[in-house]
Amino acid sequence: MSFGSPYVTLPDFTYHRPKSLDEVLALLKEHGDEAKLMGGGVGLIAFMKERLMSPTHVIDVKEVAELGQVRQVPGEGLRIGAAVSIAELLEGGDLKTEQAVLREALARVADPMIRRRATLVGNLCEAIPWVDSPPALMALDASVEVAGPEGRRSLLVSDFIRGPVDIDLGPNEMVTEVVVPESKGRRSAFEKFTGGSEFSLASVAVSVSNGGKKRAAKLVYGAVNSTPVRCPEAERLIEDGLSPTKVRRAAETASEKVECLDDVLATASYRKHLIKVITTQVLWRMM
Ligand SMILES: Cc1cc2nc3c(=O)[nH]c(=O)nc-3n(C[C@H](O)[C@H](O)[C@H](O)COP(=O)(O)OP(=O)(O)OC[C@H]3O[C@@H](n4cnc5c(N)ncnc54)[C@H](O)[C@@H]3O)c2cc1C
Repeated sequence: MSFGSPYVTLPDFTYHRPKSLDEVLALLKEHGDEAKLMGGGVGLIAFMKERLMSPTHVIDVKEVAELGQVRQVPGEGLRIGAAVSIAELLEGGDLKTEQAVLREALARVADPMIRRRATLVGNLCEAIPWVDSPPALMALDASVEVAGPEGRRSLLVSDFIRGPVDIDLGPNEMVTEVVVPESKGRRSAFEKFTGGSEFSLASVAVSVSNGGKKRAAKLVYGAVNSTPVRCPEAERLIEDGLSPTKVRRAAETASEKVECLDDVLATASYRKHLIKVITTQVLWRMM
């Protein structure tokens, strides 16, 4: 990842490798704004090389055993610790059919080497508009568990991401887990278009659940605006089932209604075209 800066070295910092959550929280309390947490370090180290971040203390959470677990909690869902790498999550087999959208999104993150280091929590906390996990997590109504000096709190991923590179987290707080709720009978899928870039130019995460009498659908678009965006108008068209006509109408509606941005990677109008293409692809696959 390079933003064109001439730096190849890291700024000076003190590296911490705590063994327990209490130690991590104590280090955050001690160093506050001066510290940055590190999961896989894929994003953090790149940002530090570019001098986009210059923490004087880096707190590596990979050795904290309680953050390295994936737990299936009956009646609650799947709890994924902050030190679990994307590769471990994919290989562990914990992502079931109803979480297919997350499995498909993570399987296409970067390359095997990066997936071995990078964590799901790090990917989410980066909150760069074009990373892939946030739309998938939002489609599954996932939440994050936050620990800090005031205790613990839980919030939906959709509330956690406030803006580009902006998450709802205090300087002394950390994310300990991502929680994907149980949802029997849910079907979900992910699609993205990169056009040879490192990152998505547009992505879509879909989930359709059959809870009770009414089906509910979510269509969450990533990489098209500063945060992931849903398209309720297109969701209504597919909540009672999919057919070729519904797929075409949903794809056209999403392309028309989802607000897109111009940036260095693509124009807004190209992104609108991509939305139509990837929505058709992903829904066709789910028919
Ligand atoms: C060549 C390349 C290709 C890439 N391709 C893709 C791609 O296809 N799709 C995609 O989605 N991403 C892609 N990425 C981005 C990459 O996946 C992310 O940088 C990575 O997932 C971040 O995870 P990490 O564990 O390494 O986070 P880190 O780099 O350790 O941390 C990232 C940020 O999250 C914070 N953080 C980490 N852990 C916590 C915590 N527990 N609580 C609070 N804050 C925390 C850090 O302080 C930092 O600000 C690519 C990156 C590169 C270099």
